[in-house]
Amino acid sequence: MSLVELVARGEEPDGYLEGAPLCPVCLCLTDSAWISPTYRVRNRHHSVTAASGLTLVSQQFVHAVGDVAGLGARLVPLPADPGYHALIAERVLPIDRSSVTHEGIVCPECGRQPTFGRPRLDSEIDVDEFKGFARSDLEYGGTASRPTGQAWRTFLDVDLATRLRGLKLCQFRPVPA
Ligand SMILES: [Zn+2]
Repeated sequence: MSLVELVARGEEPDGYLEGAPLCPVCLCLTDSAWISPTYRVRNRHHSVTAASGLTLVSQQFVHAVGDVAGLGARLVPLPADPGYHALIAERVLPIDRSSVTHEGIVCPECGRQPTFGRPRLDSEIDVDEFKGFARSDLEYGGTASRPTGQAWRTFLDVDLATRLRGLKLCQFRPVPA
């Protein structure tokens, strides 16, 4: 078994970040797990990426996953849209820093820096034993035009990913070895 990266089936239009906590200097979201109290999902796919980078999943996705806590993640219902939950992996895996590129400066206020590229997991991680969900210890993205688009990557084991993809609930792509 190995790990793959979760790819949501749809992207949400802007609007999720209204009222979100942003760094006053670089405008990055200061809490990637922030849940909008007012947002309703517009693209009613079973998994969508909000403007914050957070993955939002449907009730069918939740049912298909089953015991999410046993798989290293939690689901937080959207207060304004009970049909959707934020999928937040609790397990954090280290990324090999040499596999990604940092751009610009480290923000003097919040310490964030835009990060790009395809992350490789730290070679110490035994992916063969891995089950369930995890996320990167690094946040990605953020540009001058979309500075708030910075979020962690979500990973899951390939058996679970294949099952969810078979049900048309999400897609996935390989993590570079
Ligand atoms: Zn900042």
